[in-house]
Parts: sequence; structure tokens; C-alpha cells
Amino acid sequence: MTAERRTPACGTEGAHALGRSCEDLRLAALARYDVMDTPGEEAFDRIVRLTQKVFRTSMVTISLIDGHRQWFKARHGVGPQETARGPALCSSTIEQGSPLIVTDARRDPRFAQNPFVTGEPHIRFYAGAPLVTPDGQMLGTLCVMDQAQRAFTDDEREILVDLARIVIDELELRLLADADALTGALSRRAFRAEAQKAIDQAAHAERPLSLIVIDLDHFKRVNDTYGHDRGDAALIGSVLACAAQFAGRERIGRLGGEEFAVLLPDVGTDRALSVAERIREAIRGETYAFREGTFRVTASLGVTSAPADGACDIDMLLRSADMALYQAKAAGRNRCVVAASPIGRGAGLRRVLKRGSLVLGAGRESVPCTVRAVSAGRVRLDVLGAAELPTRFDLVMDGEDPAPCRVVTRSERGLEAAFE
Ligand code: GH3
Ligand code: MG
Ligand code: MG
Repeated sequence: MTAERRTPACGTEGAHALGRSCEDLRLAALARYDVMDTPGEEAFDRIVRLTQKVFRTSMVTISLIDGHRQWFKARHGVGPQETARGPALCSSTIEQGSPLIVTDARRDPRFAQNPFVTGEPHIRFYAGAPLVTPDGQMLGTLCVMDQAQRAFTDDEREILVDLARIVIDELELRLLADADALTGALSRRAFRAEAQKAIDQAAHAERPLSLIVIDLDHFKRVNDTYGHDRGDAALIGSVLACAAQFAGRERIGRLGGEEFAVLLPDVGTDRALSVAERIREAIRGETYAFREGTFRVTASLGVTSAPADGACDIDMLLRSADMALYQAKAAGRNRCVVAASPIGRGAGLRRVLKRGSLVLGAGRESVPCTVRAVSAGRVRLDVLGAAELPTRFDLVMDGEDPAPCRVVTRSERGLEAAFE
């Protein structure tokens, strides 16, 4: 696991030496697995199916605990993809650090008033086993829940713990896989690791670097019309067409589904756009033949470059390229768009991962968040319901004094704010 550094467990000398809080280390471990907000995967769906068959509960989730939310990598019988962290019983499980069994939440003083018990999804029975990494960090839980009370034997508890270990084994396997099994492109994790290395080198050598994100157009329709296997063939063909345009140190990674990214070291925006145009033509030029006929696919591309005047990271570049890609889709697809103003450009934002909260209404309300980047003047954070939050709030991070902030931009899941 070349570039991956293990996170020292809470309370160890390694953790102490890093001078970071337990929660910071836990969030760093979660970030290392790079699994939040990734598409569904059969391996995890299968574990949830199996768990449901074994325990016959109405709800099962693989829940990962971010600074401010729980997000489900796989779920059965639960509607939303994520919920607030505060009331999540899975959050209590990782705080306790061992399996949490609640046979009747309504009669348990710790949970009787919990909004997930008194309201949707009306949890009455809960059993959760923490997902513990080999270095002792708890990423979340595998849990089973029901709307009726029930008992849970010691044997059942052991089975749940073993199934939770299988979830971690799967996450570990993904760390080892550098190549995407279908297309041979770099895995999402490997691409991000390589890209970050190249970004740091480019900044150090004051060399340009660009990034292109590619999303195949109307790919659902391709699958629906020609079948999943032919869809797969088009994914492989598109990667080959793309790689045929490479001349040197370019790398391609599969970010997920039908979405890819290309890293262009030593290439500025103008050249990156012409590479993107060639890639677009090459993808469109491929023909996929089958007995009844042939079809083609097109792609939309977003292009961005690392800022010449400051540090940036792969998340910033991906976000920036993604916004350009979104414009390419909106403008009719099968086109390339260059990002107008990359997020964080020149702002000197430094990547951090911290649990924090937004204090609103003169201290009357506190909304949990995960702080992702800060600079002297700016902060970028993820928060549930970002669109509805007021423009001004106080940010509290890790016991520091509240800092007054004003929202500069926001999206569905987060916002960027200026310190006032
Ligand atoms: P858009 O132009 O807006 O991107 O439309 P789209 O249909 O491509 O959008 P969306 O991202 O919603 O759909 C992506 C589809 O890609 C959904 C899924 O069925 C398909 N897909 C994801 N992974 C694979 C895969 O490994 N093989 C195949 N054949 N299809 C896949
Ligand atoms: Mg897509
Ligand atoms: Mg698509």
C-alpha cells in the first residue's frame, strides 16, 4: 500500500505525536478508504442482503459516520441515503467502541426520546457492530434494526461482528486494487493518490497541470437499449479510445460508473482543452457492433487546471472540473467546457478534516458540520441542508472560539464561507 499511511489509533503514541484529536484521526482514516458518496457496489449490497436473511430484521445498513452525518454505503428497508449524525444510534455504537444492542429503544432511557425512535423510522430494536479498521479506527457500523422489540443472543452478536469484519475486509481489498477490473483504468483511489502526488510535484516545480473529467452521455439509455454487456463494451472502448490520445505521462482513472478522469501533468489549460477535444472525438468515433447493428456513444468533458499561485488538492480540481462538466451537460452534451474559476483558486485553502458546528440565531441552534478546507480568510465545509442555512453564522471548530462567517457560495451538500 505504497502511498497510504496508516492512521495511528486513538490514545497511541503515534496519535499523540501527530497532535490530533481522536475524531480527527478517525475522519482521516475514513478519508483514506475514500468511500463516502461512492456509487452502490454489489459486494456491500450482498453483505446487507445476507445480514437481512440471517437476522430477518426489516432494516439493515452499512453506515459510515462522517463529522456531521451518517451515510449508508448499502441499505435495506431504509429510505434516505444519509441522516444527521447526532441522533444516529450508529454514532452511539462507535462512541461506545463495542457492539451496541438495544432490545427495546422505547424502554431504554438513553434512546426513548431519540427522534429516530419517536419518529421515522421508528426504531425499537437495534444491534450495531462497529466497523473497526486493522489500525483500530471505527468508520461506522453494520447494523440491524426493527420496529418491534426483540432479543439478541450472544451467538447472534458474534455473527454480526463477523459480518462487520467482512465489510472491513471488502474496504481493505478496494485499497489494494489499483486497477479497475472492467476497463483497466486506475481505480478511483489509485487515481486520486497518483493525481495528488503529481499535483504536489507540479506545485513544487512550478509546472502546470490539468485535469479532465469525462462522463458518458445518456449511458442509462445505452444500457436500456442495447443491454448491460454492450454497455460494458462501450465503457472499455471509450477508455481505449481515450488512452490512444495519450503521448506521455497522462493517466486515466475510473471515478465510478461511466465517469472517468484524466490527469495531464505539464499541460496548461489551452492544451488540455485540445486534448479534451481529441478525446471527445475519439470516444464518439468508436463503433460498437452487434448482431442487429451498431451504436456509438458520446461524452461530455470538464477541463480545469491547477492554479499557478498556490496549493491545491485533487478534491478542489475534481470539484472544479465537475462544475465545467455540469455546464457541458446542460449545454447539450457531447462537448468540452473549461472551468471558469476553479474553486479555491488563489485562496490558499489548505485541506483539513475536522468536526465542527455552525451556531445560528445568537447561539440558539447548533448545526453539525465537517470542515474540509480552511485558509486565513475562507472555510469550506459540508453540512446537511446547506441550501436552507442563513447567510451568517458562527463556526466552532474543536473547542476554538466561535468565528463569525458569511456564506460566499453553496451547493446541495456544503458551502464556502468567508471569515468576517
Ligand atoms: P448523463 O448524460 O446525464 O450523464 O446521463 P446518464 O444516463 O449517463 O446518467 P447517469 O449518471 O444517471 O447514469 C449512469 C448510468 O451508467 C447508470 C448505470 O446504469 C450505468 N453504469 C454505471 N456503471 C456501469 C457499468 O459498470 N456497466 C454498465 N454497462 N453500465 C454502468
Ligand atoms: Mg454519470
Ligand atoms: Mg452519464
